[in-house]
Amino acid sequence: MSVDQTAKDRITVALLGCGVVGSQVVRLLREQADELTARVGVPIEIGGIAVRRPQRHPDVPAELLTTDAAGLVARPDVDVVVELMGGIEPARDLLLDALKAGRSVVSANKALLAEEGEALATAARDSGADLYYEASVAGAIPLLRPIQQSLAGDRIRRVAGIVNGTTNFILSAMESTGAGYADALEEAGRLGYAEADPTADVDGYDAASKAAILASLAFHTRVTAADVHREGIREVTATDIASARALGCTVKLLAICEQVAGDSREAEGHGDSVSARVYPAMIPKSHPLASVSGAFNAVFVEADAAGPLMFYGQGAGGPQTASAVLGDLVAAARNRVIGGRGPRDTAYAHLPIQPIGEVRTRYHVNVDVHDRAGVLAAVASVFAEHGVSIATVKQEGGREADDSATTGDDADHGGGQGTDATLVVVTHEAPDAALRATVDALSGLESVRGVASVLRVEGLGRPVHALGGAQ
Ligand code: NAP
Repeated sequence: MSVDQTAKDRITVALLGCGVVGSQVVRLLREQADELTARVGVPIEIGGIAVRRPQRHPDVPAELLTTDAAGLVARPDVDVVVELMGGIEPARDLLLDALKAGRSVVSANKALLAEEGEALATAARDSGADLYYEASVAGAIPLLRPIQQSLAGDRIRRVAGIVNGTTNFILSAMESTGAGYADALEEAGRLGYAEADPTADVDGYDAASKAAILASLAFHTRVTAADVHREGIREVTATDIASARALGCTVKLLAICEQVAGDSREAEGHGDSVSARVYPAMIPKSHPLASVSGAFNAVFVEADAAGPLMFYGQGAGGPQTASAVLGDLVAAARNRVIGGRGPRDTAYAHLPIQPIGEVRTRYHVNVDVHDRAGVLAAVASVFAEHGVSIATVKQEGGREADDSATTGDDADHGGGQGTDATLVVVTHEAPDAALRATVDALSGLESVRGVASVLRVEGLGRPVHALGGAQ
């Protein structure tokens, strides 16, 4: 069935979910009814609201509430389905049914869009209905529409940023108080920034879904959450944060999406590919993303002609996310009124995913060693054997003066078993696979007690002047 293009005297909305975000959408639709009518041309009315437990919603008129979400979506008077229930099922089937029936869909459901984006886009294309999901990435921040529409005439090369407020809050708290991960997580939970089960946030799943959506739109290709290399923040220690500070850096959980030119890949004969990855990394304090703290989000977009652009604001929260939902709802409503359509899905590029082993970045590696003759030379030769070039080495602890920065073999001391020390190595850019192989080989050295931590150092497209010995 195709979209009904006859003149409409109202837009009827089926709301699926009335929680943190949905309840704010209901409030704003009520409070701003006159302005929205003026902007759309006809009133936007709520036809029904599907929830699981109607008794938990005393503020909503009882006649609007239903537990029959499928029945609500199927109602012939519904023009737009706004999905704010979350999760994959039943949201997926409900939205596919809605789109196949020609209803426009607005969703904030990043997990669903990142997993089932292709099926939803196909259903929308086939029926001519709209599919909008601005609120699924970075909450209130207008980001998907600029990527999809404002930059539609440009070539986007990179989208990188902080897209998860919970992890940013935790890392900011670790930075400002010196707390360890567990204490910072507990504080985040107490203040309402972390869920009772923080897995989706701290293990990077939420950010990976957002990275998949961003990469798909930016590079006109299909990227799912499973394509995104994902590492969370559980392993980040207070020592890592202190090491970052000593280098003039801070630690952030980054989502990085890049279109990688074929000739810059390790193996020859490859065409362009897409790299999408989520991991904690040190970034220079001089980079604008470094000052994004607490629950805020910020995303850098780099395009050939436009150059760098930065988007900043609140990435979650009921009213904030509802703002983005209402923006989409107004767009869908306007299209229904004038009989137009929003932009189609443009996943025409079919780019392969660059394996994480080929991704090049810099690394900060803490190697715990027995401080004795030849240890630095042995460690340095393992890096060299794997093609990983060292930018700086600093020794902490051990026999000689603590905190002595060295870049040569000055840290090698004469004979004896020596005491324990840590070598803090910062590398030049190297492929991930080479660094992993280096770490494995280091662990096998007799003079090495263990590799205490490995953190990436990202320059985010700008020279990393802040780092001693940087190239
Ligand atoms: P929430 O507070 O947990 O609310 C979910 C709502 O959906 C509840 O009203 C719940 O009903 C209803 N629901 C869940 N499963 C249902 C089912 N099977 N049938 C009928 N109703 C069902 O969630 P939220 O925080 O508002 O998030 C909603 C969506 O927005 C999610 O996709 C989330 O990822 C996205 N999002 C949220 C934020 C944010 O700051 N919260 C930011 C960006 C995007 P009951 O109330 O009866 O339990």
